[in-house]
Amino acid sequence: MDLMTKVVSLCKRRGFVFQSSEIYGGLKSFYDYGPLGVDLKKNIAKLWWDDMVDNRENVVGLDSSIIMHPRVWQSSGHVSNFSDPLVDCLNCKARFRGDKQPSLAPGSTVTWRSKASGDNNVLKTGQVGDHGYVCPECGCPHLSQPRDFSGLFKTFLGAVDPLSCINPSTPPSQAAIDHLLSQTVYLRPETAQAMFIQFLNVQKSMGLKVPFGIAQHGKSFRNEIVVEHFIFRSCEFEQMEMEFFCEPGTEKEWLSYWSENRLSWYQKYGNHRDNFRLRAHDSSELAHYSDACYDIEYQYPWGWDELEGVASRGDYDLHAHSQGSKAKLSYFDPKKTDPATGKVGWRYMPKVIEPAAGLTRAFLCFLLDAYSESRGVTSTGEEKNRFFLNLHPLLAPYKAAILPLSKDDGLMTLAHSLGKEWRKSGLKLTVDGYQSIGKRYAKHDEIGTPYAVTVDHQSLVDHHVTVRNRNTTHQVRVPFKQAQLMITESLERR
Ligand SMILES: [Zn+2]
Repeated sequence: MDLMTKVVSLCKRRGFVFQSSEIYGGLKSFYDYGPLGVDLKKNIAKLWWDDMVDNRENVVGLDSSIIMHPRVWQSSGHVSNFSDPLVDCLNCKARFRGDKQPSLAPGSTVTWRSKASGDNNVLKTGQVGDHGYVCPECGCPHLSQPRDFSGLFKTFLGAVDPLSCINPSTPPSQAAIDHLLSQTVYLRPETAQAMFIQFLNVQKSMGLKVPFGIAQHGKSFRNEIVVEHFIFRSCEFEQMEMEFFCEPGTEKEWLSYWSENRLSWYQKYGNHRDNFRLRAHDSSELAHYSDACYDIEYQYPWGWDELEGVASRGDYDLHAHSQGSKAKLSYFDPKKTDPATGKVGWRYMPKVIEPAAGLTRAFLCFLLDAYSESRGVTSTGEEKNRFFLNLHPLLAPYKAAILPLSKDDGLMTLAHSLGKEWRKSGLKLTVDGYQSIGKRYAKHDEIGTPYAVTVDHQSLVDHHVTVRNRNTTHQVRVPFKQAQLMITESLERR
């Protein structure tokens, strides 16, 4: 099995990620995060928030509504630009984005194998059409006309069900369509725009001085044509974004600061530093408003691909929303000299650096990165392959598992009382008395629990437990208090 298959299988077997609506056949590209997935996701989000907001003087948080005024998305350009030319192959029925395929010279001759039932697999020859598109799957140039596909999920405000106005025998009137359009709202395709439209409220209420940042973590929705690689690209996902507002002229410096800073954050919590890298966008990849952008990439099983984008967005967004709303989204620095007038007191539109991380992508990357195999010896002395999740202790869903050797003789009671005591210091633990001790070790290795703490009959007498290290399988017998210290210290040390 390849690594991806192993991780996807682990996710389901151990309660990290389930297919959404599975008992109804599943909803493609939608996922539910199970009990351990919730913890891993929460831990990633907390480490991000700690690093981006709580440990800084000049970055504050925001939690905006998912549905916003539709004009937000008109001003931001999403309504007009967030649509892709979608093309269907008339030969193999593949659906693809025309603009994402390498296009050929219109009129050039290509060959492909027919999928039609009469002449299946027969080699055909034909000419490339005006758009220059050929099917990426079979090479056929016979395609449907490109149709616009909107990446925005729409819904409608108002009590009347918009579908109820559709009468199959008469087409809807222009008035009915206009009414419907006036009620159309969108599920946000990114968390970023809220930070721009609340720029003034946040800056004024908190008395913030440039440079400062506004951070937000939450769900976003994109009607993706191509969903791929499990949770890597899905229609509903979670983002962790920060907009950093800085003085014009300083954006290069801040872009370099934030891209290095974000790269080292991943390297700190991952195990393989070399599997993370920074890649500068070349000019053909840059959005029209962006003057520079870095991707933090991870070496996934399918190759290097995006984990986070750190973009220099200029003042594009503040400018677009100032125009769209007529609000004055600018900043006044009473001490700085205005370079245009030479007078003290400078009003300007800040430039923006945006580190935009995908929480669900980080989730996948940390799981892939942690997946480890080694030769080990089972509790019965048999040598076999052992696999474990080498998750950073701060990412691990459980920091320790307390395992009573038997369910009787007061061992369970002792395990629960240790659990109760240790939870007081904020440790997320589980008391697990199910299955043989060997199977429980294997299970906790697989879900990345850094320590397994075994309570045996001797523990009732000498108040010692056996602490087993997930990565090395080494065991030490120590007093209760010392076991607790070992676990808490592992969270502080790295
Ligand atoms: Zn095709």
